[in-house]
Order: sequence, then structure tokens, then C-alpha cells
Amino acid sequence: MAETKYIFVTGGVVSSLGKGIISSSIGKLLQARGYNITIQKFDPYINIDPGTLNPYEHGECYVTVDGMETDLDLGHYERFTGIQTTKANSLTTGRIYKAVIDKERRGDYLGKTIQVVPHITDEIKRNVKLLGKKYHYDFVITEIGGTIGDIESAPYMEAIRQLKWELGKNAVNVHLTYVPYLKAAGELKTKPTQHSVKELQSVGIQPDILILRTEKHLEEGIMKKVASFCNVDLDCVIQSEDLASIYEVPVNMQNQGLDTAILRKMGEPIGEKPALGPWRTFLDRRSKATEVVNIGLVGKYDLQDAYKSIRESLSHAGTYNDHKVKITFINSEYLTEDNVAEQLKGQDGIVICPGFGQRGIEGKIIAAHYTRTHDIPTFGICLGMQMMVIEFARNVLGYKDANSREMDEKTPHNVIDIMEEQKNISNMGGTMRLGAYECVLKQGSRVFSIYKKEHIQERHRHRYEFNNEFQKEYEKNGMMCVGRNPESDLVEIVEIPGLKWYIGTQYHPEYQSTVLKPHPLFMDFVKTAISNKK
Ligand code: GLN
Repeated sequence: MAETKYIFVTGGVVSSLGKGIISSSIGKLLQARGYNITIQKFDPYINIDPGTLNPYEHGECYVTVDGMETDLDLGHYERFTGIQTTKANSLTTGRIYKAVIDKERRGDYLGKTIQVVPHITDEIKRNVKLLGKKYHYDFVITEIGGTIGDIESAPYMEAIRQLKWELGKNAVNVHLTYVPYLKAAGELKTKPTQHSVKELQSVGIQPDILILRTEKHLEEGIMKKVASFCNVDLDCVIQSEDLASIYEVPVNMQNQGLDTAILRKMGEPIGEKPALGPWRTFLDRRSKATEVVNIGLVGKYDLQDAYKSIRESLSHAGTYNDHKVKITFINSEYLTEDNVAEQLKGQDGIVICPGFGQRGIEGKIIAAHYTRTHDIPTFGICLGMQMMVIEFARNVLGYKDANSREMDEKTPHNVIDIMEEQKNISNMGGTMRLGAYECVLKQGSRVFSIYKKEHIQERHRHRYEFNNEFQKEYEKNGMMCVGRNPESDLVEIVEIPGLKWYIGTQYHPEYQSTVLKPHPLFMDFVKTAISNKK
């Protein structure tokens, strides 16, 4: 395509309607037609990135290959489309302002008064266009976090208004709203949608396509009413009913012609409807998988979104193993020696989750001890791996005071230590070991047989590491270091060979599992959990 086209996804009425899923689905459908796409998110908060946010506030922090800590929607983008996102795909109001303020200090605008319009809006526009210019994508899909009418999103709306004006046919707005069902009245209500579109129109944006989120099927009469009240073509009003799985959304959108509506609005040839073969095979297998495998997530954040990518990775692996993964959250804060057997009962496999800080770690150690001594398949991720290592030191090597430097600064048995390059860092934002690093797997190890290769790349987000001084002792006693970074010699993976599945990774494999390319470690872990059931 000669010129990049831009699709802006905005939301109205309420948050959590699934703009990320819709953006991902648009990406998926355009990709299926042979277009080269990317998806970008603007978050209207002032943090530079969500790395310093508590997962209770915004759910999981997703990490890109180039080490950007981002919103969890980027995980959806990658899982749906298989693209790799980068720093340029995730922006916040904080980053936009920082860039403008840095330029002001440098003297780039010397003599000028710096204002929201045009300076902040120009910086937003520059970041939208950057992707198109630099990487020559056919389509750049830009999702704006928050809801129309929020004070915070006003500069983004103004930037979209200007871009739509400048780009003409090469820009469209897809607006996602909500049609609530009032039980007492027995009616579906379109008024919130009408108001939300009015709000959008009042800032000068005419939506091209409306997607109505609804819990009940919307009849044609309602669609017509919305179309005529909102100045939108009837075939550009699309409904997004609740579905059994988020992965059904692209097919549902394709059935209603969301992709063709976009292409027509942008003056692109429509061509044949893509079959979405492998995607449909995945959905088919998923709906046929009725047998359940139980996986317990031992963590401290009792919130669906806090371990989003782990949950999705497990569920991809479940589908490809023809099972439904039933995930039970087990709060490590309340795990004790006395209740661990009861709490973990019925689980075919256990994931010990990542995290930071003291809260809940003793419970993770208790869980690791229980699963190791009862040979329950166990997957430790990042902090989870570190807790496996500490448990082993305390109960096998006999170092009762073994700990991580993160939790205990003075212990002589600092089996998890702070990384050398982290020692003098005091700033909290974006300073961890972040992003993709190489890891070399040991021939003959379990992980080698799972990955079926020697060199892998996985993403990281941590400050602490396995203390190599203890390596010999660990290996002598049965916990093996089977993956290392070739430059720093940092231990990336530990495993206990005699057990069914007891593997801990310092990295986060969950960031790389996608619908069409499930992650080998999750695949093998779930497979083992299934056979453990039997
Ligand atoms: N808190 C640990 C560290 O910084 C683990 C981090 C994580 O689980 N992502 O090393």
C-alpha cells in the first residue's frame, strides 16, 4: 500500500468494554487479508509507563521485546496477531508530556509558549504517524485508553480530530459503546450510546463505525435507530455480544463485516473473505475440549487481570492439549504448613507466580515445598522460580535462613542476590533487567527436550538473580541450572530432573505465547498436568 492508513479505536459510556480485544480483532482481520499491521495504545495517565503501578490498579504489566513495560492490552495485540510490539506501541500522557518538556528545556521551542494545543497534540500526532513512517505499515491501529468525556483523554481526541481532517479517507474512527439491558423494563437502551456519540461529535469527531457491546442480541430495529441517531451507515453499526471466548470475537466481527466496512470507508478494494483457517481450527478444538485439567495459581494478587498472560498461556496450551484449563487462584498470603495440603488439593499442576516484595512469599515457599515433596507438576515464574530456589536451600541444603536479598539484606545464604548492574540504581521506573535476552539451554536437560533447540530468547522483568556461588551445591543435591545467559552467565532456568515437572524460569515465558503459537513450556507443563491427573 502506498500510504499508511490509520484506525482510531475509542470507547464510550463505560470502561472495560474490550477496546483491546476489538483493536486486536481488527488487526487480525486485516492481517488475514494480507495487510501489514501494527497496534498501538495511548494510556491517558501521567505515569511514564505502568511499570511502577500496582497490579491492583491496572492488572498485569506486559513487557515488550525491547524492554518497555506496558499496558496488558499489548499482550492481547500480540496474542491475537502474532506481531511483536515495541516501545513505540505503548504511550502514556506522562511520556508525551515528558517529551515535550524535554524539548522545551533543550530550547527546541525557544520563544514560544508551550500549550496543550498545539504542542501536546502535535507530540501525540507525531507518535501515531511515527509507526507508519518508520516501519511502513499498511494500517496503524491506535487504541485510546479511557472513555470519551474524560478530562484526561481530551488532548487525544483533539489529535484524532486533526488527524482525521488531515488524512481524509486514510483515517477512520471506530467507536465502541455499550447498550445496557434494563431487566425491570425488559428493554435494551440505546440512549447511552447516543450520548456518547454526541460527546464525540461535540469534539469534532464523527465516528465512522460503531461497535455496540451488549449482553443480549440486538435486533435490526435497534441497529437502525442507532445508525440514524448517530449519522452512521447501517452496515457500519456492528454488535459485539458476549461470547464464550475472547478469541471468537474476530470471527464474530468478520461475520458482520467489520473489516469490509473499514476497507470500504478507506477506499480499499474488498477482495475475498479470508478463511481464517488455523484460527478456526483453534476455536473448534477449544469448543470440543470438555475434559478439565486443574491448575492452581499461587500468587498474591486476587484479581483476574493481574496474571493475564499466564492465564492466557495456560488456556492456549489447554486447547492444544484438548483440555479446558480450570484455573484456581490460591492466595499465597494465607497459605500455611497446616492448610497447604487442603488448599492445593485437586490441582493437577501449580504455577508459582511472579511478583515483588515480601507479602505472600512464605506461602509461595510452602507451596513449592509441598509440590516438590509430593511430586506435583510445578512451574515457577520469575519470583516463583526464586521461591523454588529458596525452598530448596532451606529444606534440602539445610540453610534455614536462605532468602533473596530483596526480602532479607543480611542473610549469609543469599541464594537469590541482587544483580551486579542493579546495585547502584535507585530510580524505580524502567530500571530493571527488561526485555528479551538470549538463553543457552543445557543439552540433555528437560527444557532442552521441550524447546528442542539450544538457543532461545525470552523476556525479563527482574532485579534479582540466582547466586552462582551456590550452583555446585544445588547441582550436587539435584536442582540443576539448565539455562544461562551467555554474556552475563546469569541462571535463567532451574529444574529437578527426577520429578514429573519442576521447572523455574527467571524469565516470563507467558509474554510470548500466542493463539497460533502456544509456548512450548506451557504446552509441556499442561500436558504433564493432564497425565498427572490420570
Ligand atoms: N522481585 C523479583 C526480582 O526483582 C522477581 C520479579 C518478578 O517476578 N517479575 O527479581
